[in-house]
Amino acid sequence: METYPATYSPTGYGIHDGEAVIRTPQTTKTLQGDGIEAICSLLTAMDGTTAASDLLAAVPDSDPEQLELLYEAGLAYDANAIPTELAAEGWERYLEPALPALSHTTQQSLPAQLATRSVVVVGDRPPVVEVCERLRAAGVSVDEAAVDSSEWPHADDPDVILLSEQLERTDAWTTANELWAVSSATLLKTRLTETGWRVGPVVTTDAGACLNCVYTRVDANKAGGQLFAETITGTPPYMDAYTDTVTELLFRTMVGALPRYLDEQIVEYDHYAGQRQTSRVFASPHCEVCDNV
Ligand SMILES: [Zn+2]
Repeated sequence: METYPATYSPTGYGIHDGEAVIRTPQTTKTLQGDGIEAICSLLTAMDGTTAASDLLAAVPDSDPEQLELLYEAGLAYDANAIPTELAAEGWERYLEPALPALSHTTQQSLPAQLATRSVVVVGDRPPVVEVCERLRAAGVSVDEAAVDSSEWPHADDPDVILLSEQLERTDAWTTANELWAVSSATLLKTRLTETGWRVGPVVTTDAGACLNCVYTRVDANKAGGQLFAETITGTPPYMDAYTDTVTELLFRTMVGALPRYLDEQIVEYDHYAGQRQTSRVFASPHCEVCDNV
C-alpha cells in the first residue's frame, strides 16, 4: 500500500459506547468493531503527505483493513486525488465532498481525469469569476463563451455548461439551452439573488425537461416557483458562500456525484432567513427544443 491518505475533513471524532463517532461537515458516521481506538489514532496521524504504509507503521495496533474501512466509509480519501495546484491554493475542500462517491482507484487518477474536463460558462461572468479560478486550479479547462452563438464552438463538446443567470429569457439563456441541445453536456443553472442564490435544475443529456421547459412550466405554475426579473450587482455578504456552493456543485457534476435534490428542482436559498425552498419543474409537452433532440 503505497498510497497517500488524508483525513476526510473530520470536524471531530471520538469513542462513545464502544463506537467511533466521526463527524465531517457533510455527515456523522459511526464505526464499530475491533480496533476503533487505532482508527481514531489513524485519523489523528493523517496529514495528507505521509504514505499509508508509514502511517500504519507509526500507529500501534493499526492494520490495512482499518484504513480500507475509512476509505469505504468516505471518511478518508487518497491525497493523490487532489490536483497539486488546487491543494496549493487551499481549495481542496471543494473537491472533497465528491470523493466518497469514487472508488479508491478512480481517486488516484482524478487529477489526470480533471485535466481532460471542460466547462463552458455562459451568462453573467462577474459572480462566477472565482469559481472559474478554482476550476482552472484543478486543471479543468474553462471557456467563457460569448453569448453570440456565431462564435461557437469554443469547446467542441463540453462536459458542463454553467449558466450564470441574471435575467431570464436573455440571449445567455437561449445560448446555454442551444449549446446543451447539440452537446452531451450537463447544464447547471445558478443565480445570485438579492437575498441569496438559486441553483438548479441540473439538466443532463437524458433529462426529461430542458431550460425551455423549465421556463414554460414555471411560468405556468406561478404558485410553485415564480421567476422574476431581479438583478444584483456588487458583492453581497453571502458572495463567498455562493462561490463555494457553485464550485462544489461543478466538481460534483464533473465526477458524476451530483446531489439528487437538483433533479427537476430549483433550490432557492435565502441567506438572511436561513431558509431553503424548492420548486418542482416539469417537462413541457411539445417543447420546441427538447422534443427534437
Ligand atoms: Zn424542453
